[in-house]
Amino acid sequence: MGFIIFRLIIFLALVWAGIRLLRTYKQKKLEFEERHEKENSLKKKPQQMVQCRFCNIHLPEKDAVRHEKLWFCCHEHRSHFLDQGPDKPEW
Ligand SMILES: [Zn+2]
Repeated sequence: MGFIIFRLIIFLALVWAGIRLLRTYKQKKLEFEERHEKENSLKKKPQQMVQCRFCNIHLPEKDAVRHEKLWFCCHEHRSHFLDQGPDKPEW
């Protein structure tokens, strides 16, 4: 009789441990997903704006064309700027 109760206790302990493990797993999964979402939104948010040195238009960094420390809205403006140079007077 005592042996059956012992087995029952072991069985219940295993079930309890299984439920706890499942809950912990779900919790961790939820936390991970939340963190992932936060990281994603953080990545999206800081969109650095830069200014084209040729036409002074503002545009997001990912759409801009870079030349050393200078930014341009397109390849055309970059080559225009590099051809004319920064100190050439406008006519
Ligand atoms: Zn431009």
